[in-house]
Amino acid sequence: MAQFEVHDADVLAQARAILENAGGPAGMAQRVVEAVAANEEWRGKRCLNLLAPEAPTSPTVRRLLAAEIGIRAAEGHIGRVNRWFAGTQYIDEVESLCVELLKKAFRCHYADHRLMGSMLGNLAVYHSLVQPGDAVMSAAQPYGGHSSNRQDGPAGTRGLQIHDIAFDPQRLEVDLDRFAEEAQRIQPKLVVMGMSMTLFPLPVRQMAEIIAPWGGKFVYDGAHQAGLIAGGQFQDPLREGAVILTGSAGKTFSGPQSGMILWNDPALTVPITEAIFPALVATHQVNRVAALAVAAAEMLEFGSVYMAQIVKNSKALGKALDERGIPVLAAERGYSESHQIIANVRRFGGGLDVAHRLAAANLITNKNLIPGDTAADWDRPSGLRIGTIEVTRLGLMEADMARIADFFQRVLIDKKDTDAVRKDVEAFRLPLQDFYYNFDNGWPR
Ligand SMILES: *Cc1c(COP(=O)(O)O)cnc(C)c1O
Repeated sequence: MAQFEVHDADVLAQARAILENAGGPAGMAQRVVEAVAANEEWRGKRCLNLLAPEAPTSPTVRRLLAAEIGIRAAEGHIGRVNRWFAGTQYIDEVESLCVELLKKAFRCHYADHRLMGSMLGNLAVYHSLVQPGDAVMSAAQPYGGHSSNRQDGPAGTRGLQIHDIAFDPQRLEVDLDRFAEEAQRIQPKLVVMGMSMTLFPLPVRQMAEIIAPWGGKFVYDGAHQAGLIAGGQFQDPLREGAVILTGSAGKTFSGPQSGMILWNDPALTVPITEAIFPALVATHQVNRVAALAVAAAEMLEFGSVYMAQIVKNSKALGKALDERGIPVLAAERGYSESHQIIANVRRFGGGLDVAHRLAAANLITNKNLIPGDTAADWDRPSGLRIGTIEVTRLGLMEADMARIADFFQRVLIDKKDTDAVRKDVEAFRLPLQDFYYNFDNGWPR
């Protein structure tokens, strides 16, 4: 039977064949469990996971994700009268601890813990701060922008007029002069900077000042940078003029995959909180909230040293790759002030092909659009994004980045057999199985 799918139709057809041959529902369930175990054995134990939007959690955070509290229903705002359900006193305690820990971690007055992802945090922003037809400015994807703030994402669902923020393609920075000119003409209600390709701090103060005369608000979608921000190693958007900071807890923040939203202005509290409930979220996974709370406490204790090491490792990895003949963007600026670096791999076959060749050697990265890529390059862009969160949490330091760069060199420059490189990557990774910068395992040894 012909079926139309947006997902890869062949992969779904394979799944149907698996279920067909599983000998009944128990066998079907078994195949799911086996796929999860296979991923743990491969990605969890044998790979160097260098995906920038991914972070390993501490053992306690991971354990909490399977906790009993995760099967309890708790809709609504914290507190006896606010809830629809009785029996929620411990849930209220966990959730309020989470809210207060988030406020401490981000040094702000208000936080919400109920967002299952940062996409929902961004939707809450668009739900509460703008009306259909309003003008918004955000960064396009080739400069690092994210669908969250574009026509095809949450922003688009609100029927906004979305305009591009001008970038200097060489320096990968906002072109402030052009931004000032265009913002003056467009007079956007919101400027939302959400950068998935993020190497350097953004000019928050300057942009917020430019849009202030007509009451424009600056929102910082810090999905990627949230941990760096909490750890004081990047910039502090809420102190530089952003009215809202949204973030993903599963990126640099190194907690459960989750959204966070943070702000200081009391006038925003009702609109944001009521956009979250009852508009966007009902039950909100209290196991995830508990895990998020512990991750915030870990950030308070370990965040500044952990995040500083992530940045040092990116710079070291950028330099080591560049020295081996793999061009890395922003060399003249030290490659990065964040958890990621961007290589231009066009000469090695482009981001899609290179990412899959590296994955065959257990080096996990992702293809990335970079300046110069056009709409036609969307599926096969020139760039490769490489992140240092997980290798840092495994306890690796700057000197270790040369070893990782050697693996890249063998695959891309020396064109070695990926099976041979994979064996050496496994030999490097298998002794490294503990994540540090947390209360379970402490500091790296
Ligand atoms: C990853 C990302 C998101 C989405 O975050 P989720 O937590 O996965 O929903 C939003 N905005 C930006 C800029 C991102 O990079």
